[in-house]
Amino acid sequence: MALKHTPVKLAVVGGGAAGMFAAAVAAERGLSTVLIERKARLGSKVLMTANGRCNFTKDISAEDFLRDVGDCAPFVARAVRECPPRKIIQGFKSLDVPLRRMPDARMFPADGKATTIVHAFGDLLRNNEVPVLTNCAVTGLQPQKNGFIVATKNFTLWAENVLLATGGVSYPKLGSVGDGQNFARDLGHRLVPYRPGLIGLETSDPRIVKRAGRRFEDGRAKVIGPDGAVLFDYRGEVDCETFGLSGAAIYNAQRFIEHYIVRNADSARGAEDRIRASLTLEVWFEHERLSFNGLRPRPVKEAIVTLGGVSLDDVNPETMESRLVPHLYFAGEVLDIDGPTGGYNLTLAFATARKAVASIA
Ligand SMILES: Cc1cc2nc3c(=O)[nH]c(=O)nc-3n(C[C@H](O)[C@H](O)[C@H](O)COP(=O)(O)OP(=O)(O)OC[C@H]3O[C@@H](n4cnc5c(N)ncnc54)[C@H](O)[C@@H]3O)c2cc1C
Repeated sequence: MALKHTPVKLAVVGGGAAGMFAAAVAAERGLSTVLIERKARLGSKVLMTANGRCNFTKDISAEDFLRDVGDCAPFVARAVRECPPRKIIQGFKSLDVPLRRMPDARMFPADGKATTIVHAFGDLLRNNEVPVLTNCAVTGLQPQKNGFIVATKNFTLWAENVLLATGGVSYPKLGSVGDGQNFARDLGHRLVPYRPGLIGLETSDPRIVKRAGRRFEDGRAKVIGPDGAVLFDYRGEVDCETFGLSGAAIYNAQRFIEHYIVRNADSARGAEDRIRASLTLEVWFEHERLSFNGLRPRPVKEAIVTLGGVSLDDVNPETMESRLVPHLYFAGEVLDIDGPTGGYNLTLAFATARKAVASIA
């Protein structure tokens, strides 16, 4: 029998939230797909989410989701409307994953184990005979007339379409080290500088340090502008740490501040620092109200999400395809997209992954 070279229709690079979802959708649509993951197992970061419990989405409408998500909403709107939180919930139910809805609408697997979510993807990929390469880092991509050469350390693959789902740059030990952004940059895409998102803020204020290790569930964080206007107000957990402040209310306020700086800083020297110093963070807990200015976030490698990444100007939101390199797609945190705490970031990864695969299929 004469054998001929056949390209795979889709190579998904990165077996995290976006990559697993993309491969699952591709399998359901009968698209020949290979999933390539650098680590020994799929979904290393997903296993860490919500302290190993995986808050995979929030049971709200697409419009409420887009209202909450902030700056990237116009870019992700189409993807989220086509794959809203409730469709994701339905998808897990159809895979027989028992789910639990919290009073604030956050959704978890009922057993509180992120492994249940990762196994559901693993089962689906196995049942659909999707080839999964683990322990296999992609080292480069080369566009060809009819697709791409996808290089790994030991061999190359020929793929008609490539989806980069390699994640951000936080928690690099879990595999996301910025490879996808580097491949994109080498192919001419612009990168938005990285910043930490959803991370603690540093302070040595003795009122915080003396409470290190204590959590205050009914806390609150406000961000107040230079003119006294309340720009952001969130009720949620405030935690005191040896380094400063953390907890959901602080994380969301920190993320708000970073986006505010990006929107308002010009290229003048010191502009960012001036804006940071001009914003007041008001933190409420245990009947105290403390005010801070200019608190710095912990480093991006410790952040829950990476702000920045592949510029949205170089990606078509209707398809998630590169505007520069045909048949190259992006999904998840590799892009300059991010949301608040509460299941938004996994939902963004799932929705953009589905959009990319739907466009290819
Ligand atoms: C501690 C923590 C808790 C979190 N909790 C939540 C939560 O409860 N809810 C929520 O919505 N979000 C949460 N997040 C955020 C969420 O996990 C991420 O936004 C999401 O995983 C991003 O999905 P992704 O597929 O884009 O990237 P990832 O899930 O990071 O996956 C990227 C994958 O690509 C692989 N990869 C990278 N480079 C290569 C390469 N060259 N070749 C092959 N493979 C490669 C990596 O090994 C990795 O597995 C949390 C994050 C952290 C760090």
